[in-house]
Amino acid sequence: MSADANISDIQYLKGVGPKRALLLGSELGVKSVSDLIRIYPFRYVDRSSVIPIAAVRSTAAMVQIRAGVVSATLLDRAGSVLEPADGQIRFNAVHRFSVMVADESGMMEMVFFKGIKYLWPKLQPGKVFIFFGKPSLYGGRFNMVHPEIDDPGAGVTQPMASMTGIYPSTEKLRNAGVTAKVMGRIMASALEAGLPAVSETLPDYVMREKGLVPLGYALRNIHFPQDQSALAKAEYRLKFEELFFLQLSLLRQKYVRSRNERGIPMPNVGEAFNKCYAALPYSLTNAQKRVIREIREDMRSGKQMNRLLQGDVGSGKTMVAVLSALIAYGNGCQTCIMAPTEVLARQHYTNIIKYLRDTGVEVAVLTGTTKARERREILERLASGQVGIIVGTHALIEDNVVFRNLGLAIIDEQHRFGVEQRSRLWAKSAIPPHILVMTATPIPRTLAMTLYGDLDVSVIDEMPPGRVPVKTVQIVERQRLELYRFMKEQIAAGRQAFIVYPMIFENEKVDYRNVETGYEEIVQAFPFPPYKVAIVHGQQSDEDKKFNMDAFAAGRADILVSTTVIEVGVDVPNANVMVIESPERFGLSQLHQLRGRVGRGGGASWCVLVRGNKLSEESRKRLDLLCSTEDGFVLAEEDMKMRGPGDMDGTQQSGLPIELSIASLARDGRLLSEARAYAEVVLERDPELSLPQNARLLAELRKGKYDRKDYGKIS
Ligand code: ADP
Ligand code: MG
Repeated sequence: MSADANISDIQYLKGVGPKRALLLGSELGVKSVSDLIRIYPFRYVDRSSVIPIAAVRSTAAMVQIRAGVVSATLLDRAGSVLEPADGQIRFNAVHRFSVMVADESGMMEMVFFKGIKYLWPKLQPGKVFIFFGKPSLYGGRFNMVHPEIDDPGAGVTQPMASMTGIYPSTEKLRNAGVTAKVMGRIMASALEAGLPAVSETLPDYVMREKGLVPLGYALRNIHFPQDQSALAKAEYRLKFEELFFLQLSLLRQKYVRSRNERGIPMPNVGEAFNKCYAALPYSLTNAQKRVIREIREDMRSGKQMNRLLQGDVGSGKTMVAVLSALIAYGNGCQTCIMAPTEVLARQHYTNIIKYLRDTGVEVAVLTGTTKARERREILERLASGQVGIIVGTHALIEDNVVFRNLGLAIIDEQHRFGVEQRSRLWAKSAIPPHILVMTATPIPRTLAMTLYGDLDVSVIDEMPPGRVPVKTVQIVERQRLELYRFMKEQIAAGRQAFIVYPMIFENEKVDYRNVETGYEEIVQAFPFPPYKVAIVHGQQSDEDKKFNMDAFAAGRADILVSTTVIEVGVDVPNANVMVIESPERFGLSQLHQLRGRVGRGGGASWCVLVRGNKLSEESRKRLDLLCSTEDGFVLAEEDMKMRGPGDMDGTQQSGLPIELSIASLARDGRLLSEARAYAEVVLERDPELSLPQNARLLAELRKGKYDRKDYGKIS
């Protein structure tokens, strides 16, 4: 501790000083030397060789060239050359700084848009530099934008290491002169100052059992690798450490909670459950049965249930919710089922009352559009305990909603509910109700382990029989008439179609077809009579949305034009065509959700992607993948790899609950599982981490670094 305090002032490091120290704090969150040495390079470059300009052949790899400045030109926004007047330059007017450089083999342009004030006096004709960067192709020639610049004349300081780490940086840092290179130098002195004070975080037995190098070695080599193999060992050790502590922390929270938090014991199944079960119009899938058993065990245990139920669209989560609610009912408790939208709440309600027709359980629905008188009545019946199950939207968490005996809260599509809203719901009951969160977003295992590491997870990994795969095809604009012809055939056969547009804003420059113009076009192509087209979008009032949705659900409209409001849950079995406009604008998981809206009512169904003519390589890959698989988990994994976990559907708003500094949830899934399994082993041997051999683990956890923000904590 004292050693840390002594060295915590990074401003005294060589090359830092008070100003940069402040910046490192505000930009990278670095407050001490030990923080600093835990900032790792995000990639490494081999700068041991310099190539001739003429040998630059591709934009794929970083290159290093040694060349002299031939000319240095300042240009304004219009591309006119700016001449310094009386040696004065109006840097405000400068847009671009173009530097032509040459070696024996050829010429190349270096381009700068930023830091020009500082670069201009430096990059003057006649001087020779080493330029390092990624070539780009412009006007048929290679250039480099913002290369890194080294002055070979500045005395050979340190030999170029064969692998140089590149550190994360920000514009402010670069403007303050903390370039990648300066950062490397700062890091060297940070290591010198900080390493002696670094104490090992992992017990010796862990390092032995998992074959890990010591922390000191790992830190030294992650920053300044001796060679490839040292780097690999360092990386492995640091990634494992990070994931292991993360899982250790999550599992301990779960353990502590399951020991402390009493839940309402629900030993009975009850008559209503049995009646409903016996009257089911189909037999449950094995996956549904298994999940219901898991839930039943939880509810009976006397501990509070905290369970996440994952199941692809159409896997039959509603039935699981209904049976769980009936278990609560059989034990004299009420259940609330919360849906993210009015439309979904009403739809749940309609489905649920069908299942419960013969059970005598009273079900109510409460949303923002429930009329005052009806609302008053429902609230009374809820408070008196007559209503056994209440379905609704956010309206359910309002303070005037009082339960007689809330025993179970089911949240559908949890990511639309904030933590604060959830805690208001829990406040409605003296003992915390059992919690079941249902999501159709197939969260990749690795992400689920981290987001919900302290929850129990149930997965419905089996579809009800009889689902016909949805045929997914891509078409381009000129095939539109053909598509309309096809839709007319389907409508003539009594079926219905969705057309979904990406959500966009009026002022957005990108020319995507939006829902308003789309609607007009569709109405022209499908004139009334005989065609009826409904539209649903986010700008409508809840009443309008409901009206239009209902019209479509009841078959009064043939086509529903909408934005992604219909993404979750909406069930219109008769619809068998899903047209998605500008699919390249959607995430893979989101496309999959949309596709899941069709294929529910028997017969063949189609998902038609009307894509742009020009697609990026990545978009093309994504759409091809969507066409080739219906496995939501495969798509979610892929989405995460391509876009990064922070950008997964449903996590955008909240961000990830923990920031990883070296491991990646998308790429290190295997290691994460391994770290979790090992954390389980460690906790099994010593649940309190009270054995002397685990002292280091406890000390590390107490630092709080691995405590998760509140995301996903649902009680
Ligand atoms: P989810 O909410 O998981 O997307 P739903 O609960 O809405 O899925 O179920 C989708 C459809 O499948 C519904 O029409 C439902 O009646 C039907 N279904 C559910 N379970 C089964 C089953 N075991 N066998 C046949 N059909 C089922
Ligand atoms: Mg559902």
